[in-house]
Amino acid sequence: MNKATRKAIIAGNWKMNKTATEAAALIADLIPAVKNADCEVVICPPFTDLVKAVELTKGTNIHVGAQNVHFEKSGAFTGEISADMLKDLGVAYVITGHSERRQYFAETDVTVNKRTAAALAAGLKVIVCVGETLEQREQGVTAELVALQTKIALGGVSADDMKNIVIAYEPVWAIGTGRTATSEQAQEVCKNIRAVVAELYGNAVAEATTIQYGGSMNAGNADELLGKADVDGGLIGGASLKPADFAAIVTAASK
Ligand code: PEP
Repeated sequence: MNKATRKAIIAGNWKMNKTATEAAALIADLIPAVKNADCEVVICPPFTDLVKAVELTKGTNIHVGAQNVHFEKSGAFTGEISADMLKDLGVAYVITGHSERRQYFAETDVTVNKRTAAALAAGLKVIVCVGETLEQREQGVTAELVALQTKIALGGVSADDMKNIVIAYEPVWAIGTGRTATSEQAQEVCKNIRAVVAELYGNAVAEATTIQYGGSMNAGNADELLGKADVDGGLIGGASLKPADFAAIVTAASK
């Protein structure tokens, strides 16, 4: 990555794991493990752990993110959480468009865009996830599909807002499967995404935008993936629940 123009970010997506009590124990282990990081460190626990996570990470280099957000400001949306609610808690980041939301909860490019806009309006930083399924990769449409997902997700987002946007390239076939994209595949798609950002906002914004790779990144493959020019960090699922592994990935991103 180009550390002169952009920041490496390692974010842990805990998915639906850890009660608040378990989260406290994990955070207690993570704090010393990542304290010397030379990159941004983010943890995204479930909603029910956010209060505890914000409280326990105060004064540390760990930032807290949520895994989803609703796009309406408030009202009759039973079971949903607004961007203002997250901001008020001290949450800094939110993930939008994770493939598990797209796959299991009817998330579409349009709702990803609405969630992204609502989060930005509330002053949150947004990790926007894009990525192709195995079938789409085999059909040879990865570049077009990821470009389309990126463009729709960023609809209405200003060049100035782009400083609060992180894009995570997450091939669906690599998430939670133990099957990682090769570093060449990750680089190729991250580079394409940067070209899309350049087309929309110009080179300076594209060069300043953090583009992560996500999909079975672990302590063993992080060095190689993060060594690529356009891979500026990682969105980490499984390995983010293991402090030593997560810390090893943070160390790889700190080089
Ligand atoms: C994720 O949940 O975004 C992810 C990349 O998961 P895993 O690292 O487990 O593949």
